[in-house]
Amino acid sequence: MTIPLRKNIVEMAGYVPGFQPEDADQWIKLNTNENPYPPSPKVLEAIQKELGGDGASLRQYPDAASRAARQAAADLYGFDVDWLIMANGSDELLNNLIRAFADEGDEVAFVQPSYSYYGTLIDIQGATIRTFSLTDQFKLADFPERYQGKLFFLTSPNAPLGVSFSLAEIEDIAQRCDGMLVVDEAYADFASETALPLVKKYKNVIVTRTFSKSYALAGMRLGLAVAHPQVVAALDKIRDHYHLDRLALVAAEAALKDQGYLQQRLEQICTTRQWFSQQLRELGFSVPPSQTNFVFACPADGDGQRVFELLKQHKILVRHFSDPLLKHGLRISIGTREEMEAILNVLGAEC
Ligand SMILES: *Cc1c(COP(=O)(O)O)cnc(C)c1O
Repeated sequence: MTIPLRKNIVEMAGYVPGFQPEDADQWIKLNTNENPYPPSPKVLEAIQKELGGDGASLRQYPDAASRAARQAAADLYGFDVDWLIMANGSDELLNNLIRAFADEGDEVAFVQPSYSYYGTLIDIQGATIRTFSLTDQFKLADFPERYQGKLFFLTSPNAPLGVSFSLAEIEDIAQRCDGMLVVDEAYADFASETALPLVKKYKNVIVTRTFSKSYALAGMRLGLAVAHPQVVAALDKIRDHYHLDRLALVAAEAALKDQGYLQQRLEQICTTRQWFSQQLRELGFSVPPSQTNFVFACPADGDGQRVFELLKQHKILVRHFSDPLLKHGLRISIGTREEMEAILNVLGAEC
């Protein structure tokens, strides 16, 4: 018999995550925008406290409503708690937003290039993909006066280019959307602006965040969204009821409450980013101004693959995309100063 899968599942390609080598400690790993520093020590303390001596707390289900973590996020961002939902990685939110707003055949849009996982999720739902492109100045190139799709995912700062849309640009886009505008702020902690004020002003604006990059908690799988309470209530119905485990919940709360630690690490990473971008430019690379914890570096000969292979020979892993819009460059995560010096040494000597 043929297995009766849905047609769009058979036809879709599936998402390919960044390479996670088995011998990760043999590599300088700068290909998935992880944080080079550990999470706040308060996170470790909270996890150890939750486990206790014998891990007995794990016998019991976690708080299905994520109350303590949600409250910590609500306090931090200045929203009432019913404007907030926690998630098992912000990927869970992107998925549930599509399930909440897009029927089969409905249109959902995102920017090309940006996070290609939106396309995978749209395919799973059987909705229709529309993409908008960027100008050379990184502005939306072909966005209509009124956009009627159900959802538009705007990654700001953009990944993998690193550049931000201004708050004024995002507000203009929000006003032109008949459907929902999801501002994916995975990297906003590294940026100078956030679209959070627009959530209060426009019912159709949703902001998503992740703990994977700025909070150094990619391994815990944590994200959150700030949105109108009606949107939060809908996302709350859709999710798995125990989507966050006990350790993730206490980690999120502790991380959110230790803003001093976060700010110190952000400052380190942004300082390294500014210095590294400048060094790359002096080696002849073009580097758009990054507001994230990575840079998109383009060698003068436009051959990103060549530089990718060169770095790989030196056990340095960065990200190269075969997409025609991106293959001229490389996305390099910002690691420690020493890791970035190792890259510059290779590029300076052999590139
Ligand atoms: C990393 C990333 C995510 C996913 O974050 P998780 O919380 O790890 O699921 C979402 N959007 C963008 C643009 C990202 O770079």
